[in-house]
Amino acid sequence: MAPPHVALFPCSGMGSLTPFLRLAATLAARGCAVAVITLHPTVSAAESDYISSFFSLHPHIKRVEFQPQLSLEKSKFLNIDPFLMQVEAISNSLHLLDPILAALSPPLSAIISDFQVARSMCRFASNNSISAYVLATTSAIFFSILVLLPKINNGGIFQEIGHLQLPGLGPVPFSSIAPQLLDSNHFMSAILDSNIPCLSEVKGILFNSFSELESETIEALNSGRVIPDLAPVLALGPLNSFEEEKAPYNLLPWLDEQAPESVLYVSFGSRMALPMNQILELRDGLEKSGCKFLWVLKTNKVDKDDKEDVQTILGESFLERTKKQGVVIKGWVKQDQILAHPAIGGFLSHCGWNSVTEAARLGVPILAWPLNGDQKLNAEVVEKAGIGLWADWGWRGEVLVAGDDIAKKISELMTAAKVRVKANEVKAKVRLVRSESGGDLDVLLGSLIDQLKPQEK
Ligand code: UDP
Repeated sequence: MAPPHVALFPCSGMGSLTPFLRLAATLAARGCAVAVITLHPTVSAAESDYISSFFSLHPHIKRVEFQPQLSLEKSKFLNIDPFLMQVEAISNSLHLLDPILAALSPPLSAIISDFQVARSMCRFASNNSISAYVLATTSAIFFSILVLLPKINNGGIFQEIGHLQLPGLGPVPFSSIAPQLLDSNHFMSAILDSNIPCLSEVKGILFNSFSELESETIEALNSGRVIPDLAPVLALGPLNSFEEEKAPYNLLPWLDEQAPESVLYVSFGSRMALPMNQILELRDGLEKSGCKFLWVLKTNKVDKDDKEDVQTILGESFLERTKKQGVVIKGWVKQDQILAHPAIGGFLSHCGWNSVTEAARLGVPILAWPLNGDQKLNAEVVEKAGIGLWADWGWRGEVLVAGDDIAKKISELMTAAKVRVKANEVKAKVRLVRSESGGDLDVLLGSLIDQLKPQEK
């Protein structure tokens, strides 16, 4: 039988693109013919650079460009969030993709898409007798909340003071669910309402998660206790980077000079900028902690707009005082190469799900400072798994966290022996599971690839 021909369809932003490209590389390495649908233009420069680097490393993977039609007059996110504006545009343009996908040769045997476009992809799959899958780009626990949101918002879920009692999952504090998700007029509500029903029609829901982080949630989803009739859940994580992790990349000579596990890496992901007054408190906290640091500083959601230089933001005197203690970078870094560096001993992170899985895979303890979206639930996963500490400092901008408090928490993480041991255990376990031919993950990927093959007519 011919190998599967699989199209992968990520949505807007690095948070979605990253796991999709990693899965695409994994499937191609196992003999699948792979096509990746890429958005044109991308919102961030990071996305377009990442896509270029991916296709130059994988010339055998097909690139299918898709240009969603933006309707500026109708957009609810104009001047608010360019990434959400693009999701909106994608949702309104999906009909344009059908002929593009139908024209691929050889014909597709399966499509794996972001949840936000699942309904259209299910329809296309059913019309063309191929299989549809969803790749969830968040934690299994946040995904569970998403699929339960319509029920939560119409009072169909039991609530106690401050908590929701989720079927199959137990209590989740309201304070961990981003307020905009509990607003049924939010644009995401419409996306959820239209896509949730097809989660029982797809052949599977793939997660970049794994048992050391989320065994109970994955089990609960698979048992039908969270929502009945959910398609089978497959935990394929943590997905490997498709780039070389042993840096040929000019990784700061400064980092090479630092003692093992002595440096705190600080980054809030690809689209999260702290408010300016909070950036200044973080600056003070890093200095006061006395800990070595490598800080990737962002002041704007979209990288192309991030123009102010480090000196102007943080001040010459800070940079002068801390020139031996740390380095501040403005711009894109190869995070997985940094996390793999032996000098890195901690990660102050917003807990985007890719960042969590990268740190878990590479054994770097996390200081979780969640700010938005799925991040508090992801932070809870980190804390429960024992691979980090969670500083619950409210949603972005809700409170101004003082430099002194930040310094204390940083010291706590960098000296948390139990957390470091656990993080190293998880790293060792992941290595073992990944290297085992005939092991659980190998079998899971093998059976997925069998299912991606053309359906018998
Ligand atoms: N990332 C990176 N360099 C940066 C910032 C981010 O390589 O300077 C990568 C990071 O390794 C992760 C992705 O971008 O794979 C961000 O995804 P995540 O889910 O962590 O957070 P998001 O940016 O979606 O909030």
